[in-house]
Amino acid sequence: MRQSNFLIPTLRDVPADAEIASHQLMVRAGMIRQTASGIYSYLPFGKRVLKKVEEIIRDEMDAAGGQEVLMPAIQPAELWEESGRLGAYGPELIRLKDRHQRDFVLGPTHEEVITSLVRDDIKSYKKLPVNLYQIQTKYRDERRPRFGVLRSREFIMKDAYSFDTTIEGLDASYEQMYQAYTNIFKRCGLDFRAVVADSGAIGGTDTHEFMVLSEIGEDTIAYSDSSDFAANIEIAAVKAGSYARDEDEAPLEKIDTPNMKTIDELSRSLELDSAKIIKAVLFMVDEEPVLVLVRGDHEVNDLKLEKVFPGATVEVATPEQALEHMGVEIGYLGPIGAPTSVKVIADQDVQGVVNGLCGANETDKHFKNVNVGRDFEVEQFVDVRFIKEGDPSPDGQGTIKFAKGIEVGHVFKLGTKYSEALGATFLDENGKAQPMIMGCYGIGVSRTVAAIVEQSHDENGLVWPKEVTPFDIHLVAINSKNADQKELADQLYEQLRQDRFDVLYDDRPERAGVKFKDSDLLGLPIRVGVGKRAAEGIVEVKLRKSGEMFEVEVSNLKAFLEEQFLTLV
Ligand code: ATP
Ligand code: MG
Repeated sequence: MRQSNFLIPTLRDVPADAEIASHQLMVRAGMIRQTASGIYSYLPFGKRVLKKVEEIIRDEMDAAGGQEVLMPAIQPAELWEESGRLGAYGPELIRLKDRHQRDFVLGPTHEEVITSLVRDDIKSYKKLPVNLYQIQTKYRDERRPRFGVLRSREFIMKDAYSFDTTIEGLDASYEQMYQAYTNIFKRCGLDFRAVVADSGAIGGTDTHEFMVLSEIGEDTIAYSDSSDFAANIEIAAVKAGSYARDEDEAPLEKIDTPNMKTIDELSRSLELDSAKIIKAVLFMVDEEPVLVLVRGDHEVNDLKLEKVFPGATVEVATPEQALEHMGVEIGYLGPIGAPTSVKVIADQDVQGVVNGLCGANETDKHFKNVNVGRDFEVEQFVDVRFIKEGDPSPDGQGTIKFAKGIEVGHVFKLGTKYSEALGATFLDENGKAQPMIMGCYGIGVSRTVAAIVEQSHDENGLVWPKEVTPFDIHLVAINSKNADQKELADQLYEQLRQDRFDVLYDDRPERAGVKFKDSDLLGLPIRVGVGKRAAEGIVEVKLRKSGEMFEVEVSNLKAFLEEQFLTLV
């Protein structure tokens, strides 16, 4: 491709609305342009990367037995009524009406459509298992579209759905997808982790998110420093301690703690380790007040608390509710002398607190030398806190560390939720109708492109991994007014393409400085500069990632480039 007539509008300045490197670079390198908030067009340079990523995905999905389909973006609302999600999906779902006032939605995902397809066309166990996938545009009216195509309202997703006759079959399909995803993200040159995630209403641990490690990630991953354990902090289990209570229990004492309402204030004023304080947080579980105790250096994890009360709505009590149910303001709540109408549960680690401190249910008062079992009872000890850095890893190996991650993929065992709702059944060997057992598997294709950029850049611009680079080689005629240079560059452009390299040829009548700057910004793995030694048949080769430079004879160029590509990642 000759750069003189390639639509690649590079920008010198950082766009004002772009907060993160990938968004800035994708705009500056002329990959994307915003059409409306969270809605983007891909220009040729960006589209090429998208295509490369899609090809890797197709390759691995096909190898794993997937069959590509293409479903409509516009979906009848009735299907969403059948699955029960029309109301539940909320304002992210874009709804519309046709000219006959019939209701439709713009698909944010395709469980409903695929299940109805399979329901109509697969009737027998003989046709199962099957795994169908598509690469298609999705619509989600995100509350806060941001970071360019990382969180947009229209985006490209690869979504796959597996249909099996048995749980073991589903396990095998899931495992295959897990492996395919691992291959895909490796080939994209990404540093990522497969992380155990929250499976929402379905339960179990059979869902993984593929997270690209990055400071700008919205999710926090807890991982072990010495095993491959990794989980989203939202769900990471905390390993119970041994809770040796080897200190003598001292007599209970009520002390004055004027204006000491927070753990920080208490710990500072009383010179007390916050791990010795028992924090009491009042929650409303449906209409019932529940006092939840955790150590002062720990935080209640709402998601874990919700699992203690399946199906109930769990919310932190308002100051008014706290006053109504406990008779004292927030800051002095505690389990000792709490009204009997209030249920008390505690995080498992509270068992290890000896001679602790807790609210006395009286303004400006706390109890000192508090001991569970002696001074108060709890109904239940559970794991109800967030994991922390420094905690032992739940798998018993090593210590927990945190990292931020961008979710690029998600594999999920759905079970029979949609097949039952939409009536996707098959006849088994005995002629009996059974619901199909489903899995779903998504990859944010456009988000993956942004994640690659986020991980692969330096202060001068993009640095493309080999398999997703928009072109292999940036051929630059350093001074295109010089006849020797122009002639050799033109000749190499033909030659390199014949040698099956994908070449972007900067043939523009620009100054060398401008060309080199643009070349670094565009970040193709190898630059071939045709300059001063053109007449001698010598060119400059620069590796974008390492910055290494070589002078190479034209006669040896093909072999040299092939060798370099072998070692590049
Ligand atoms: P998130 O927590 O980031 O909102 P999600 O859980 O809603 O993601 P899924 O429904 O699992 O996402 O969708 C599958 C994949 O689609 C995600 O792993 C992600 O890579 C991508 N994706 C989801 N929402 C967006 C978006 N608004 N913009 C770009 N990609 C997205
Ligand atoms: Mg989402």
